[in-house]
Amino acid sequence: MAEKVGFVGLGIMGQPMARNLIEAGYELVLFNRTKGKAEELAGDNATVADSPKEVAGSADVVITMLPDSPDVARVVAGEDGVLEGVREGALIVDMSTISPVVARDLAEKARERGVSMLDAPVSGGDVGAIQGTLSIMVGGSEEDFERARQLFEVMGKTITHVGEAGAGQVVKACNQIVVALTYEAVSEALVLGSKAGVEPSKILDVLSGGLAGNRIMELKRDNFLNHSFDPGFRIELHAKDLGIALAAGREYGVALPVTAIVDQVLEALKAKGRGDRDHSAILTYIEDLAQHRIGEGS
Ligand code: NAP
Repeated sequence: MAEKVGFVGLGIMGQPMARNLIEAGYELVLFNRTKGKAEELAGDNATVADSPKEVAGSADVVITMLPDSPDVARVVAGEDGVLEGVREGALIVDMSTISPVVARDLAEKARERGVSMLDAPVSGGDVGAIQGTLSIMVGGSEEDFERARQLFEVMGKTITHVGEAGAGQVVKACNQIVVALTYEAVSEALVLGSKAGVEPSKILDVLSGGLAGNRIMELKRDNFLNHSFDPGFRIELHAKDLGIALAAGREYGVALPVTAIVDQVLEALKAKGRGDRDHSAILTYIEDLAQHRIGEGS
C-alpha cells in the first residue's frame, strides 16, 4: 500500500509539489501556517491538520518545505512539531534549502527519536515544482533514499543521492552560488551592451548561441527584457542561500570571493526594498549603478 504523506509548508514551491503528489494518487495530510492555503488543496485525497505534530501522527512520510533553518528547526523539533507526534518507523524529508549543519543536527535528533530523516533540497524553481521536473539532491542513508524515491519521482526529474545527512544541502549551496553569479554576469553584460547602444534582445540572442549561453538567459529572458520581477524565487531567499554557502565556506576553509560580493549585492537589494522581487531583479542593481535602464537608449 502507498505510504501516507504529510506535507508542511504550502508556499510557492510546497503547494504545487503537494498537488502533484495528490494527483499521482497519494493520500496527503496537510499543514500550513496560513490555513487557507492548505484548505485550497483539501479534497478526497487530502485532509488538513492543525499542527505539524498532528500531521506526523497520521503520516508515514512527512515532507517539509519551509523558508529557512529556524523555520525547519521549529516545525520539526519545536513545540507541537513533527518529532512530538511522529510514528515509529516514519521518515521525515526536508526539501527546504537550509544550513547543512542544521540539517545534520535535525537528522541526529530524529535518529534519537527512532525515526529517519533525509535532506532533499530542490532546484528548478516554481516552474519545476508545477511541472514536476525539479532536480532533487538528497543527503541521508541509501535505504531511506530508496524508500522516498517514488515520491521524489512524482515531484522531480533529476533525483540524485549525493551522500550522508547534510550532503544534499551542501550541493544545493553549490547550485545557488552558480545561479547567483550567473545572474550577476548576465546583468552586467546586458547593462553594458544596452548602455553602449545595442538592443538587449540581440545581446541575449547572440550570447545564447555561444559558450556564454546558459539556462538563465533562456528561462528569464522575458523577465530581463520586460522588467517583470514577480517571484519566482525571491531575492531574500537567495540572500539566505548565499549566507549558507559563505558559512559552509568558512566551515571547510574555502574562500568564495565572488560569492561574497554577490551576497552584498543581494543585501543591498533587500535594503532598497526589493527583497520580495524575483532574483532576476539583480539586473536592477547593475542598472542603478550605471544610471541606465536596459532597452531605454544610451
Ligand atoms: P514561500 O513561498 O515563502 O513558502 C514558505 C512556506 O513556509 C509558506 O507556506 C509559509 O506559510 C511557511 N512558513 C514560513 N515560516 C514558517 C514557520 N516559521 N512555521 C511554519 N510555516 C512557515 O517559500 P518558497 O519559495 O516555497 O520556498 C520554500 C523553500 O524552497 C525555501 O527554502 C527556498 O529557498 C526553497 N526553494 C525555492 C525555490 C523557488 O523558486 N521559490 C526554488 C528552489 C528552492 P505561510 O503561508 O503562512 O506564509
